[in-house]
Amino acid sequence: MADRPLCLVTGGSRGIGAATCRRAAAAGYDIALNYVRDAAAADAIAAEARAMGVEAEAFQADVSKDADIDALFAAVDARFGRPLTHFVCNAGATGKLSRLDEADPKTIRDTIDLNVTGAILTCQAAVKRMSPKHGGKGGSIVIVSSAAARLGSPNEFVWYAASKGAMDSLTLGLARELAGEGIRVNAVTPGMIDTDIHASSGDPGRAARAEKTIPAARVGTADEIASAIMYLLSDDAAYVMGGNIAVTGGR
Ligand code: NAP
Repeated sequence: MADRPLCLVTGGSRGIGAATCRRAAAAGYDIALNYVRDAAAADAIAAEARAMGVEAEAFQADVSKDADIDALFAAVDARFGRPLTHFVCNAGATGKLSRLDEADPKTIRDTIDLNVTGAILTCQAAVKRMSPKHGGKGGSIVIVSSAAARLGSPNEFVWYAASKGAMDSLTLGLARELAGEGIRVNAVTPGMIDTDIHASSGDPGRAARAEKTIPAARVGTADEIASAIMYLLSDDAAYVMGGNIAVTGGR
């Protein structure tokens, strides 16, 4: 519906992105959710959102690839017929965990292509929809960073930690660049969260093992991250620009 806010979530089929789509749909946003491989999971989230009374559709795209990013945003434009108002830059991966000197260079390149270049290019495409300079109505962008940016992830994936440090710089710079155009840019910094990302890194027990290093003495949930994302997307955060909310259980 034309008067509802329209939110695109990259990596919306599972984990933090899926939890964000659920909360955003419940709050009355129309949802465009992106995935790369798991069409069934993505379609199920879109169906859940539609059952809450909003419009929702899943879009396949590998956001580490320029052509896929262009196609994704064009498909969202065509499907909804109005400019995006909210963007959650969430898709990310760590690659197989190891020390740096044991890592395959391809793992490092793939991680940077997705977590850094893909994130920056998807933010660029979102700005081209949201900025009044391009016919947009303004809006809000939330970038998903990681506590790894300040912990460094030694012996696990320092390249991933570095990629998330880049997200913190992107958030600050883009927030200041766009503040005068009615677009707020902020980040959420998750700590250790219970999602598939740990199994995908090759260590399914990683999150549970880390519990003793977390002051809250437990791993966080995807929904707890989605809660912070929703606050930053919303008008309740109207004066929050270049902010970064740590949701880390004190870690
Ligand atoms: P996840 O459970 O592994 O889910 C990853 C999501 O990203 C899936 O929807 C996946 O789609 C999608 N995706 C992966 N590669 C993609 C690509 N090339 N193009 C488009 N979509 C792609 O991950 P998560 O834990 O929810 O992580 C979400 C974000 O939070 C990431 O940026 C991550 O770095 C960050 N984060 C997570 C944690 C944590 O402990 N979980 C901590 C700090 C930060 P498919 O379903 O199609 O595979």
